Amino acid sequence: MRNIILILTLALATPLATPLGAQENKSAVDWTERQPHWAAPFEPFNIIGNLYYVGTEGLAVYLITGPEGHVLIDGGLPGYEQMIIDNIAALGFDIKDVKYLLNTHAHFDHSGGLAALKEASGAELWASEGDAPALEGGVYAGFEDKPEYAAPPVKVDRVLNDRDSDFGGAMISLTDDEPGKPFLLTTLTPGHSRGCTSFRLFIDDEREHLDILIFCSATVAANRLVASDEGPAQYDGIVDDYRLTFEKTKDWTPDIFLANHPEVFDLKDARERQLAGNRRAFLNRGAFQKYIVAKRNAFEEALAEQTDAVNGE
Ligand SMILES: [Zn+2]
Repeated sequence: MRNIILILTLALATPLATPLGAQENKSAVDWTERQPHWAAPFEPFNIIGNLYYVGTEGLAVYLITGPEGHVLIDGGLPGYEQMIIDNIAALGFDIKDVKYLLNTHAHFDHSGGLAALKEASGAELWASEGDAPALEGGVYAGFEDKPEYAAPPVKVDRVLNDRDSDFGGAMISLTDDEPGKPFLLTTLTPGHSRGCTSFRLFIDDEREHLDILIFCSATVAANRLVASDEGPAQYDGIVDDYRLTFEKTKDWTPDIFLANHPEVFDLKDARERQLAGNRRAFLNRGAFQKYIVAKRNAFEEALAEQTDAVNGE
């Protein structure tokens, strides 16, 4: 495994002033009791390079290892933190060596475990400005009144802001022997949540330079795109945000497209191919464009439907 040094470009992030009180689980749902199939155990494994899958069957959690400390992306559902910690241990790593926690977005199925993982690791949580209030409040923005959508509040230590760069934002760069070479880039892809954050990793694999995307989400899901009897839009500016994300991503062609819901990139099939001996099983060039075009069309359809419903058509 190649040597990777973690370099944090602190100047690109600003400390968050508000401290958080005692952590409490505000969720009305005991997910450990409910045991959804998406939280079923999944054997952790190495995807490629120093990137590992440590999530559950239906909720991805990614570990990126480095000699100076590791990065963990997402926390899964509340109550399944020990499964993630055990997965990390099964791969020969220690949760206590995780120095940075990142989050694709502040929805309980991806952020619910962060508070406990932060406590277990002592890591700093870095999150987008758009999602930091939801993480700290333990709420799903726009569904503050739904306790079943709540998550344990977690303090954000550094706010990630989008920056103008090749990929829209370089917050953390993990470099190898070439100092300054960007390795992990964060880029804001808002819409699904106000601060939806995607990650781009660059890994050299057998002298080939691989561009890996861990995409936040571009689904409409339960989001209210327009104000209606059911309430105001999920958040101000949501429609513009989705469109910005579709515009921003229209030329993205990663070699490996990954997401926080693993069925999006056919985790099980890819893992089976990998187990059968294909060490490039996760290469799926073209898959992201297929995904994002479908999501763009679905978004425009949902917007038209929701608008028509308001207009009584
Ligand atoms: Zn979500």
